[in-house]
Amino acid sequence: MQDEKINLLGLDRVALEKLFTKIGEKEYRAAQFMKGLYHHYEADFDNYTNFSKSLRSKMQVFSTLAVPEVVSEKVSNDGTIKWLMQMHEGNAIETVYIPEKKRGTLCISSQIGCSLNCSFCATGAQGFNRHLTTAEIIGQVWLAAKNLGQSTKNRRITNVVLMGMGEPLANYSKVLPALKIMLDDFGFGLASRRVTVSTSGMIPYIYQLNHDVDVSLAVSLHAPNDELRNQLMPINKKYNIKKLLQACNDFVKDKKKAKVTFEYTLIKDINDKPEQARELVKLLANIPCKINLIPFNPFPGSDYVRSLAQSVERFQNICEKSRIVTTVRKTRGDDIDAACGQLAGEFYDRTRRSNSIKIKVS
Ligand code: SAH
Ligand code: SF4
Repeated sequence: MQDEKINLLGLDRVALEKLFTKIGEKEYRAAQFMKGLYHHYEADFDNYTNFSKSLRSKMQVFSTLAVPEVVSEKVSNDGTIKWLMQMHEGNAIETVYIPEKKRGTLCISSQIGCSLNCSFCATGAQGFNRHLTTAEIIGQVWLAAKNLGQSTKNRRITNVVLMGMGEPLANYSKVLPALKIMLDDFGFGLASRRVTVSTSGMIPYIYQLNHDVDVSLAVSLHAPNDELRNQLMPINKKYNIKKLLQACNDFVKDKKKAKVTFEYTLIKDINDKPEQARELVKLLANIPCKINLIPFNPFPGSDYVRSLAQSVERFQNICEKSRIVTTVRKTRGDDIDAACGQLAGEFYDRTRRSNSIKIKVS
């Protein structure tokens, strides 16, 4: 049976302050507790010795401190690490850490599966299973940071991207407190531009996000016009490109130097032609943005094919000529089937016996 006590992992500072105040304690207890949990990775409430024994007992009546468990850890030759983490109800999800020279990026999930059914996405093909809780979302960062031996001085996770399984804005109420904990100095203390929410374009929540918290935005575009985007991403029928780009513009307009990242998965003969690149740059001409090209990653059951290297290069050149910074994601963690963004993860692997899914990271 599921524990009905409140899990203290997953409560942002305001929620913890409310909780402590409610039991007659001072607000600052929240910051003290967060330091123990997010700076020292202390998962045993009995070790919070700056809390009196009676306070600890009092808290244990209505709360728990349940952290996720690692099922497996795989390290790639290139340093990419993939953890399989056990979630409740028997689900397991993958979290991937991608080290680069000047940064370390953690790719996390927000849902198990996804209901938005984009035609090129393995997670979409799996269908929707359930939303992750805030504890499960922030738990991925907690566990990765702990396993990397991260101290507050030696930060190895410099960036977090919500580009794993799921649509983060479809699970907004659970994602928001997790974002707040990532940014909080008593949490992971990450800078706003280093926490990125990737969305297929749920417009009302793009506005809501902008109102509630300061993070970076990545938008999965994948097509330069509504006709093609309708085919690739059914959500476009509800929120079309014009409205989406307006929302993107509004998201960055009052922020100095902020840019929206447009993700564009290149699929052979579908969206990788030079005229489509030209149509794309025309579309994005007045938006402060960068483009991230992702060569399509094939998965079992999909008929799409990855664009040829020369098509990717040609597409990139056209974008860059129009002065939009355009990067191409490189393949990382091949040897461990690491996964970020395009995967249904081990869940998919185990059920469909796929070994062909690779990681794509920038
Ligand atoms: N749901 C969110 C975030 C998760 S997907 C979103 O759609 O943005 C992260 C990125 O991987 C998205 O840009 C998505 O379009 C891309 N992606 C999905 N499947 C892919 C595939 N098979 N090959 C390459 N990129 C893919
Ligand atoms: Fe869901 Fe994103 Fe995959 Fe679309 S690309 S099905 S929104 S996870």
